[in-house]
Amino acid sequence: MSAVLDDHLRAEQLVRDLLATYIAPPPRLTVTEWAERHRVLSAKDSAEPGLYRVSRTPYALEPQNDLSPYSPVEEVVLMWGAQLSKSTLGNNWVGSIIDMQPGPLMIVQPTMDTAKRYSRQRLTPMIEESPVLKTKVKENRSRDDANTILLKEYTGGFMVVAGANSAAGLRSMPIRDIFFDEIDAYPLDVDGEGDPISLAEARQSTFARRKRLKTSTPTVKGLSRIEDAYLQTDQRQYHIACPSCGELQVLEWGADRDWGIKWDKTADGFHLPDTAHYVCRHNGCIIHEHQKPQFLKCVELGGAARWIPAKPDANPRKRGYHLNSLYSPLGFLSWRELVEEWIAARELAKVGDQSKLRAFINTRLAETWEEQGDKVEHHALARRAEAYPMGTVPLGALMLTAGVDVQPDRLEVRVWAYGRGEESWLVERHVIYGDPNIDEVVTGSPWARLTEIRRTPLPHAGGGQMAIEAIGIDSGGHNTQAVYMYCRAHAHEHCLALKGASQAGRQIIGKPSQVDINWRGKVMPRSLKLWVIGTDTAKHLWYGRLRIAHVGPGYVHLPAELRDSDEFEQMTVERLTTRYIKGHAKLEWTKPAGKRNEALDCAIYAYAMACYLGIQTMRESGWSKRETRLITKPAVAAQEKATEPPLAADKPPKTEQPRRLRIQSNRPRGRTW
Ligand SMILES: [Zn+2]
Repeated sequence: MSAVLDDHLRAEQLVRDLLATYIAPPPRLTVTEWAERHRVLSAKDSAEPGLYRVSRTPYALEPQNDLSPYSPVEEVVLMWGAQLSKSTLGNNWVGSIIDMQPGPLMIVQPTMDTAKRYSRQRLTPMIEESPVLKTKVKENRSRDDANTILLKEYTGGFMVVAGANSAAGLRSMPIRDIFFDEIDAYPLDVDGEGDPISLAEARQSTFARRKRLKTSTPTVKGLSRIEDAYLQTDQRQYHIACPSCGELQVLEWGADRDWGIKWDKTADGFHLPDTAHYVCRHNGCIIHEHQKPQFLKCVELGGAARWIPAKPDANPRKRGYHLNSLYSPLGFLSWRELVEEWIAARELAKVGDQSKLRAFINTRLAETWEEQGDKVEHHALARRAEAYPMGTVPLGALMLTAGVDVQPDRLEVRVWAYGRGEESWLVERHVIYGDPNIDEVVTGSPWARLTEIRRTPLPHAGGGQMAIEAIGIDSGGHNTQAVYMYCRAHAHEHCLALKGASQAGRQIIGKPSQVDINWRGKVMPRSLKLWVIGTDTAKHLWYGRLRIAHVGPGYVHLPAELRDSDEFEQMTVERLTTRYIKGHAKLEWTKPAGKRNEALDCAIYAYAMACYLGIQTMRESGWSKRETRLITKPAVAAQEKATEPPLAADKPPKTEQPRRLRIQSNRPRGRTW
């Protein structure tokens, strides 16, 4: 470009700036009107290049116009599925700001990488292809200059593209308008400075006419940012009128209801996705996909469809729009494709892989996914609890350990018994009140009672006596030093100080570290050992075992005596949920606020102690030896023999070990020992 022409352009721009600032009133165009005049969809950005037409996606009209300069709405929330052109809507707003109402604008993408990609693949083509924008946005000096990728200046303002994973970009300068894109992929905390959305929103405080757009497909229930934002609005849904009966309704998936998307099956159960159609909720009319252009048309465009709020009394400055992919316009995502995806996802879920089903719920139905993979109902545990008496070790149980959870005012103790195949029984439950900081030798110390429990052997149903062989005490709470002191004093009795570590894939019990180090950095004689427990691994195993429905290896026996307590609820209280940490999804065990989980922690510690005693590598000879020692009553030994199941006729007699396992697995449930 020649210098003369450059100067000429600059002069022209100056005149336009002056006009915009001092003479011309702000244009009264809505964002939609602006986009239909000026927004050219590029081939890079859209499947249908050319001038933007709202009639293609009529549901975009209302939320888009909420973002217009004269609309009083401050925050627009789009909880939308895929293939509905929500980013086109966001970019129309960005374009209209640059042209009609320039000011400081920020676009937040989940990460710095997605921010750069968004700028190159979405913003640059939009500016290049729309003449009014091209004349206003200052040209990039260099293609590789990061500053120009993430910062674009235009007449009367500038635009920053930020990553939600970088605090520096979010707290830069005062910003009037913010477009938060794909917010469910944002990290929970950015660089230790807190929530990225709050951090960015704080930039808007000086502007009275600020606006925000938040968009995303949702993720996990309870952790989804977009659902949380949507629930704070008036919660609009797009109601279409049935082409046959005219009744207004929201398009819904039909898997568990009489209306919704339906398809035919052959007599032998073969799915026919090509037959996908919609059954009207009110009168069972058949709605065909080719009728979409007719029934998607909104009132403003001469149709009958409209957004209706579920909570019309909510804050009028916030509007939320929920839209699933059933509304995807003709030529985008078809009902047949949705049915095919659904069938494939459900088949996969049947064999235990729920990832596709979850993706369908999130990105197609635009609904949150509730993690249920590891959910165990405590009512189910209460129902299957058995009538064995607590305080006596049942037959089949051959190893005894205990887990202790230390609370500020008490010790929670659970004694667990283990047998072949790691079948387990909850044998005793003690809650010892008292301040754990009180030394064991002082009256009123809960530790003295713990020692008493530890040293009192329990009767075994086979006639023998059984001692607790190892006890694990959590030192990760508030009373670390008190736990260390107790474990130092009783180290020779296998009292172990434990510390939980939640990293995935960690061993249930690893190598201990030395606690007592002298000033030279050397381990002191008789130093206390601290044992690290892989709590994440142990919890996966624990919940997996609680789901075992048949008595036998891995089965967890629970005493009916505890049905009226909250013991079973405590055991099942944690949930596997997805959290985003530094932009990466991570599955974590989480406890709902205010719920107790001591029973669960104690079970984990007791099992870690069984691992310490070598349960994972215990051979049959080891179990037999223990059994011979414990079963002293001749009657019991005979009874054991009598309950041995007859060998199945079609199976040859087996060797000693598998037969023993079968004795365990054929024990009737609910038996009194
Ligand atoms: Zn109808």
